[in-house]
Amino acid sequence: MTTSPHSTSIDLARRLGTNAHVCEVVQNTSLSTSLREIVLQGSAVDLCGVPGNDVMIRMGDDSGSFTRRRYSVRSVDPERDQFTLWICTTHDGLGSQWAQSAAPGDAVDVVGPRGKIPLDPNADWHLFMGDVTGFSAFYRMAQSIEAPGRATFIVEIDHDDDTPSAQFSEGVAVSAVFVNRSGRSRTDPSGLLSGLGAFAFPGGEGHAYLFGEFSLINVLAAALLDRGLSDEQINRKAYWRVGRRNAQNGEPEKDQS
Ligand SMILES: Cc1cc2nc3c(=O)[nH]c(=O)nc-3n(C[C@H](O)[C@H](O)[C@H](O)COP(=O)(O)OP(=O)(O)OC[C@H]3O[C@@H](n4cnc5c(N)ncnc54)[C@H](O)[C@@H]3O)c2cc1C
Repeated sequence: MTTSPHSTSIDLARRLGTNAHVCEVVQNTSLSTSLREIVLQGSAVDLCGVPGNDVMIRMGDDSGSFTRRRYSVRSVDPERDQFTLWICTTHDGLGSQWAQSAAPGDAVDVVGPRGKIPLDPNADWHLFMGDVTGFSAFYRMAQSIEAPGRATFIVEIDHDDDTPSAQFSEGVAVSAVFVNRSGRSRTDPSGLLSGLGAFAFPGGEGHAYLFGEFSLINVLAAALLDRGLSDEQINRKAYWRVGRRNAQNGEPEKDQS
């Protein structure tokens, strides 16, 4: 297996002040109708940072050109030197194709850790909202909440089985509302907004993390501001955008044209 990352990965990591390594795919399994779970081996601690961080994967297409896609780290196993990603494959895109075809033994260039949204250690309760692409970050972050914390997930799913389970620390109160999209448009916020409407804010300081489709997370942020959260209590990150390919840097374009 190749052991040295591509020179562009090394340059990118240097520019970003992070790391570049070659990892090996060790497992690729179906987690649900929408999600695949991919386990990578190598430099796990060096690449994966803290809960909320992601890694950049370099992937090629049939024409021989390359791009990068960002995926939140679901979990890290330092003893085995492995880490896990959960990747949505319901659409047709380079990342989706890579996630469906990655096979044990494949070498992959990984740059990480990336990301600037860690868990707020001072919050009494944490609200995780978005779509299935957010599950990986949501669960890793929620698993780092200490008792007597509180985690609530309000996530829009496409299929009834898109509800992966996880173990959380004893003494952490966990609740989840999974809203089936039921054929609504992917930019229709009504499902998530009704889930939010049914959520009574617990006492104490809260923090919301919004990860998912570009326009939806902006609508959700506005709804949370209306409910009384401040800007500082809301972190949002657009993971993808309806009708657009993510750019070379792995992020959705922000312009409105
Ligand atoms: C910081 C960060 C962390 C991320 N973490 C994760 C993660 O943990 N898991 C994960 O699955 N993704 C995650 N993403 C999104 C991921 O990086 C890719 O954008 C996504 O996988 C789409 O890439 P693609 O090459 O498959 O499709 P693209 O080439 O970007 O898009 C092709 C087409 O598919 C549509 N499309 C893209 N994604 C979806 C989707 N989820 N549902 C429906 N249509 C879609 C686009 O609108 C476009 O029309 C993250 C993004 C960022 C910025």
